Amino acid sequence: MAEIETQALIIGAGPAGLFAVFELGMVGVSAHVIDILPRAGGQCMELYPDKPIFDIPAQPRITGRELTERLLEQCAPFEPVFHFNEAAQTLERESDGFIVSTASGKRFSAKVVVVAAGGGAIVPKRPPLKRLEEFEEKSVFYAVREKEPFRDKRIVVAGGGDSALDWAIELAPIAERLTLLHRREEFRAAPASVAKMRRMVEAGEMEFRLGQISGLVGENGKLEAVQARHAGETFEIPADTLLLFFGLAGRLGPIEKWGFEMKGGQIVVETSAFETSIPGVFAIGDVCTYPGKLKLILSGFHEAALMAHKAVTYVYPDRHYTFTHSTSSEIIAEKLHLGEKG
Ligand SMILES: Cc1cc2nc3c(=O)[nH]c(=O)nc-3n(C[C@H](O)[C@H](O)[C@H](O)COP(=O)(O)OP(=O)(O)OC[C@H]3O[C@@H](n4cnc5c(N)ncnc54)[C@H](O)[C@@H]3O)c2cc1C
Repeated sequence: MAEIETQALIIGAGPAGLFAVFELGMVGVSAHVIDILPRAGGQCMELYPDKPIFDIPAQPRITGRELTERLLEQCAPFEPVFHFNEAAQTLERESDGFIVSTASGKRFSAKVVVVAAGGGAIVPKRPPLKRLEEFEEKSVFYAVREKEPFRDKRIVVAGGGDSALDWAIELAPIAERLTLLHRREEFRAAPASVAKMRRMVEAGEMEFRLGQISGLVGENGKLEAVQARHAGETFEIPADTLLLFFGLAGRLGPIEKWGFEMKGGQIVVETSAFETSIPGVFAIGDVCTYPGKLKLILSGFHEAALMAHKAVTYVYPDRHYTFTHSTSSEIIAEKLHLGEKG
């Protein structure tokens, strides 16, 4: 397969990867972006598209979906080329850059590589249930992208973390009946969510059952009941929809073996440009670690900006580069077709 040439290859189309397209564009570096998923947005789109985020500067309240849309709009003038359903697999050094190949066999030749892979592939943990596959994406789901399909359903939400409680609270008002199933009385979710859930249970707005999910009842992917066990007894909860929130099995997979210095499953970077131990390969967003690292979207934005100012020196080694504000950037003026600078 022919190599696809790009100045920068960004691995991951989450918020950090999308903002990296913009920051690289501002310094005149074009980018291709690959993502395992079929769409952009990373965790914001996969895990909480309709939840409001409150700590994006100058955006007092913005949902995961809206943030993704704005980031796509912001980077669009730089014409990034997206390759979805592509998982980065190998990294090879070339004389003046790198070759990254994907699981499907695509090969990218890039001057710089920006790893913005978050916690790795966003794969939900699946309980070891018989015939689970038969029901998946028909009546058993691991994420809620839209609430409406769940209206008037008999829903069981299994899990004790933030996602389980958030969605139980959100969906209970539109469900015919909603049961939260968790194996113990203690929850990992935020105390405020737990308190709200308990109030709703007391008010009869949802049901809570103690138990561990043990089986699915139904035929041809159509769920009729969820089986669970508690204190040696098995019981059934009538349901046509099961939402499983047992966390994510986030793994970087092959990227971990690219030879970076790693710590706790994250890539170690220095903090002047968020470059890894391989010169010319950067790591930004949740995937990187350094003293004081916070897994926040705004940290990824900051990291993207500093990364771009070093990445440009690899792409144009002979060019004298000077820092420019976006307000006076000729590149921005040209890309946004502004009549005159500033
Ligand atoms: C429920 C919840 C609420 C949150 N609330 C907030 C909040 O209020 N404020 C805040 O700042 N943060 C919040 N966060 C955290 C925030 O979502 C993350 O910090 C942010 O998404 C990290 O962005 P990222 O681009 O680094 O990684 P991600 O969003 O994880 O995106 C990484 C992308 O890389 C892709 N990828 C991974 N491996 C590969 C590979 N090998 N090849 C190709 N693609 C790959 C993935 O498919 C994914 O799309 C929240 C997180 C959750 C789960």
